[in-house]
Amino acid sequence: MKIAVVGTGYVGLVTGTCFSETGNTVTCIDIDARKVRKLSSGEITIYEPGLEHLFQRNLKEGRLRFTTSLVDGISDAQIIFLALPTPPGKDGAADLSYVLGVADELGNLLDDYKVIVDKSTVPVGTADKVREVIARKYKGEFDVVSNPEFLREGVAVDDFMKPDRVVIGTRSERAQRLFRELYAPFVRQGNPVLFMDERSAELAKYAANAFLATKISFMNEIARMCELLGADVDMVRRAIGSDERIGKRFLFPGIGYGGSCFPKDVQALARSAAEVGYPFRILESVMHVNESQKVYLVPKIMDYFKGRLQGRKIALWGLAFKPNTDDIREAPALYIIEALLAEGVHVHAFDPEAMPNVRQLLGDRISYGTDQYSVLEDADALIIATEWSVFRTPDFEKMDAAFAQKVIFDGRNVFEVPQMQALGYYYESVGRQPAA
Ligand code: NAD
Repeated sequence: MKIAVVGTGYVGLVTGTCFSETGNTVTCIDIDARKVRKLSSGEITIYEPGLEHLFQRNLKEGRLRFTTSLVDGISDAQIIFLALPTPPGKDGAADLSYVLGVADELGNLLDDYKVIVDKSTVPVGTADKVREVIARKYKGEFDVVSNPEFLREGVAVDDFMKPDRVVIGTRSERAQRLFRELYAPFVRQGNPVLFMDERSAELAKYAANAFLATKISFMNEIARMCELLGADVDMVRRAIGSDERIGKRFLFPGIGYGGSCFPKDVQALARSAAEVGYPFRILESVMHVNESQKVYLVPKIMDYFKGRLQGRKIALWGLAFKPNTDDIREAPALYIIEALLAEGVHVHAFDPEAMPNVRQLLGDRISYGTDQYSVLEDADALIIATEWSVFRTPDFEKMDAAFAQKVIFDGRNVFEVPQMQALGYYYESVGRQPAA
């Protein structure tokens, strides 16, 4: 098939590359000329495990190309995916200006039957809006389909190539036939392609993210109870996770969720609820808990240093909002950094992939290490904000040599408490009793 993808960010680039991998011819379109230039010349613009290899192969074999021109990019496409930003607007509702702006341009450009697909996460009713905007200018036949994306950054290629399910919101049989064919190579193991109406598909994406965020905030509250009551959250987690109705995944407490999806999607769903006169109380609490969880370690650090943080040097492992990505959008580490800078702390950070993005955002307001050990030199304490695998099994001898103070505040529970006790660390984590 011939496919166009409008918006070549995380979702657009993964979508475009993976569709080209199954033999389709894909044109990715982006308004960012620098990004398009880089991608056209074979330089990948995001870090995503496994993506580079597929990107290079399909680029070389001519199934994947990049352009800044919408008219050129969609000219022979049968299906046009919109993988555009839907950031939170001032009131928390999703800002649809990117999606509707491109829909408006498409109204001028369409000249035969095409399927326009909302891959962006968009509120219920957006497919109708996109259809209306296009139909104002284009009087021919076309379909608008909602095909929300469930990939996770860090494992995006696997998620896209072998999705747990594909959700297709459309009542058009013609569009359904195209989508059955398009997704067939991705569901060969038998995972479902679920056809439904547009509104259900749109709500399904928000419901999924809101449910996962709720699980995280719930466990973070259980973790706080564990600390106050002298219990161990790891034990509680294992005990409840063995119950199949609850499940083992997504029960790990920490310093809150971040990223470009959970915070904005929870907020947007709460806003959608308010717009139809329904106060979605659980979501209000989920957001409230997460706000405080992001900086949960700061008062602990403050207590440890008896309120005297001015002039201290604190090392920070992890800047990305989660491991295996360079994405720092809404990363809890950034909130911790701001809180520490406000107290006059010198922050010395290391992250395997996200340092260039943080440098762009914060410049030299903090300093950056060459590896995870270099930031420990002269540090008064270490904070762990992202659970990269390289942080889980460090060379403790090397650590000891660099890090005289041996004080760790672990926001991701990467170490075991008895292990740190034996190694002589002061160690505080989330939902477990400290090792002193
Ligand atoms: P992103 O910011 O990484 O990428 C968006 C891209 O669109 C950028 O490259 C930008 O330059 C481009 N763009 C903006 N306006 C444009 C225009 N008029 N024409 C062409 N290109 C334009 O965003 P993302 O993370 O890929 O997210 C896109 C959508 O997918 C959002 O709705 C998001 O909620 C959803 N989503 C994201 C993820 C994720 O993990 N990142 C997962 C599922 C769903």
